[in-house]
Amino acid sequence: AKKMGKNNYQFFNRAMNELAVERHTTEVELRRAINGNELLVYYQPKVDLVSGMATGAEALVRWNHPDKGMMLPDAFIPVAEDSGLIVAIGKIVLRQACGQAKAWHDQGLHSFTMAVNVSALEFRDRHFVESLRNVLDETGLDARFLQLELTESVLMRNVDSSIAVLRELKQLGVQLAIDDFGTGYSSLSYLNQFPIDVLKIDQSFVQSISSSVGNGVIVNAVIGMGTCLGQRVVAEGVETSAQLSFLHTHHCTEGQGYLFSAPVPADDFTRLLGQGVIG
Ligand code: C2E
Ligand code: CA
Ligand code: CA
Ligand code: CA
Repeated sequence: AKKMGKNNYQFFNRAMNELAVERHTTEVELRRAINGNELLVYYQPKVDLVSGMATGAEALVRWNHPDKGMMLPDAFIPVAEDSGLIVAIGKIVLRQACGQAKAWHDQGLHSFTMAVNVSALEFRDRHFVESLRNVLDETGLDARFLQLELTESVLMRNVDSSIAVLRELKQLGVQLAIDDFGTGYSSLSYLNQFPIDVLKIDQSFVQSISSSVGNGVIVNAVIGMGTCLGQRVVAEGVETSAQLSFLHTHHCTEGQGYLFSAPVPADDFTRLLGQGVIG
């Protein structure tokens, strides 16, 4: 047994080493990606469920890796967060997304809103609000057309300081959304203290609307609660027309998901708008 234990330990140790090496490689390559032009921003439409028009888009980062091809955020965002590189990545995405939103405004999409994901490290960064203001100035995008998506866990980490930062952001004029709503553990009493404009119902609830009666009830309750609090409610991960029809029947205002479009590069998004597919 002792021998087994030792072998297991060695095996475990080697696996841990490989993992550490892999993370280190990712970090080194990510630095290069940030300084080069390997990071891209894709856009996924948010659709008004009554008119069928695109109300805006969510900006989602992609890494066009020279050897590995197009990489999804799950493969590098955790390393970016641990290493602090997420702050630099966030700035790249923010600048590009705001510039693109301004371009779409100039093309006539006058009330188009651009949503950007904000991670914990960025939200806690002392210079976050200032750097937001700079990007808005540089790109010429009106603050009210920028929406910041924050998860419950980011907000709940330090509630008092979160409320202070959120108030500063509201002063700046941006919209605030809670992302992945229902998967965190924010208590409803806090929720009411956060100056939130939009609730995004997590896709796990939306996707089991039809398979589980319980999830339909939860989705319905979140829509009702958001509506009563004066918030807009966006359903994430809408994939089927059955889900769409449930959401429509229960007066959910907006949806996002593969049913409308996957995240696509800006040019493809412009084409979709032109074809009237989403607008
Ligand atoms: P998220 O913010 O919850 O973004 C929604 C994710 O769901 C996206 O994955 C999107 O492609 C995917 N999705 C959209 N519609 C559907 C659908 O109908 N079905 C399914 N199964 N999935 C759908 P993606 O682009 O891989 O991003 C994953 C996560 O990475 C995001 O989750 C977000 O937490 C993070 N992320 C992405 N871009 C950024 C960024 O620029 N900054 C930060 N901090 N995080 C980002
Ligand atoms: Ca999001
Ligand atoms: Ca989400
Ligand atoms: Ca998510």
